[in-house]
Amino acid sequence: MANSLSALRESNRRMVTEAVRNAGTLTQAQLARTTGLSPATVSTIVRELRDLGVLAITSGGGRRNAVTLAPETGLLVGIDFGHSHLRVAIGEVTRQVLAERAIPFDVDASAAEGLLAAELLVDELLEAVGAERDDILGVGLGVPGPIDPLTGILGSSTILPGWVGINPALAMEERLGLAVHVDNDANLGALAEATWGAARGRRDVAYLKVASGVGASIIIDGRVYRGASGAAGELGHITIDENGRLCRCGNRGCLETLAGGLYLTELVRATHGPGVTVSRLVELAVSGDVGCRRVIGDAGRHLGVAVASLCNILNPGLVVVGGALAEAGALLIDPILEVVRRLAIPSAAAVLAVVPGVLGERAGVLGALASVQVSNIESAL
Ligand SMILES: [Zn+2]
Repeated sequence: MANSLSALRESNRRMVTEAVRNAGTLTQAQLARTTGLSPATVSTIVRELRDLGVLAITSGGGRRNAVTLAPETGLLVGIDFGHSHLRVAIGEVTRQVLAERAIPFDVDASAAEGLLAAELLVDELLEAVGAERDDILGVGLGVPGPIDPLTGILGSSTILPGWVGINPALAMEERLGLAVHVDNDANLGALAEATWGAARGRRDVAYLKVASGVGASIIIDGRVYRGASGAAGELGHITIDENGRLCRCGNRGCLETLAGGLYLTELVRATHGPGVTVSRLVELAVSGDVGCRRVIGDAGRHLGVAVASLCNILNPGLVVVGGALAEAGALLIDPILEVVRRLAIPSAAAVLAVVPGVLGERAGVLGALASVQVSNIESAL
């Protein structure tokens, strides 16, 4: 009984904190309406969370008892490593982005080169906004591979071969002298879309990142589900065709070999020349190229098979599709939906919406910014 009471209290605290984080600022009456908790319970929880340093209550002015996240000052840094870019942003806890810059990043570069480039970019942006490292509350770092939640080490990945076995958070902490929270790009994309974008306010969401590779993130009851070893959401490596192409993970016929940009661009190079990138493939498809439309449509149908299974297991209300391939919009989304409607159990398919993400290539870095607040809150609760 004691356990279930404390679990209920923790869950209520989490719900209140997330409501404030999503809205930026709320009155206690609005909090009661948003969470469905009684005004008395909200009042108790807000007081407790204020004492824990998670929330702040401001009185006076136009809004009585406005509740915000605490502290209200300080800067957040987001760093996002992708297959071919490095993007850094500096934001405020109020979620305003003050400065942001992306540079091309050589995927074959060593971890040390990547981390150095990120450090230089952070300092450059700090100078641009007239701030110093001391002003930073925390750093969120996104990497395109699974992170073991116990060791913090990047798992096997041929997307960043120079990074395998590295603890990116620790290595970045040593460079910046600041607390660094690390997560994979799909989890951060999901967090960004849930905070700013297409999944705002939704508590049960799956996010697919379809770019060079295929990744997914699963949000259950408002929190990213990580699994026993941080590998939850590795949707790109479920088997679609047991006798299919060899995948970079060592398996054959993974979803990624049928829908990942690295593999799709290979398909069109024979007909469209050697220089076709994922973005160019999408561009060509959108402008009406029949072959590129076919390739993206087929990728969508394969993704649909995986999403239908996901639907039967987790019954999400919303699937947000991000990553460079999602820029193809309906050309990718419609075939996913068509297959889901055919394969998933009707009661799960009926409630599912599949939409493209709205944050584009900024999703990773915005998620990294949001992750700093989430990890600070998690450690306080
Ligand atoms: Zn694989």
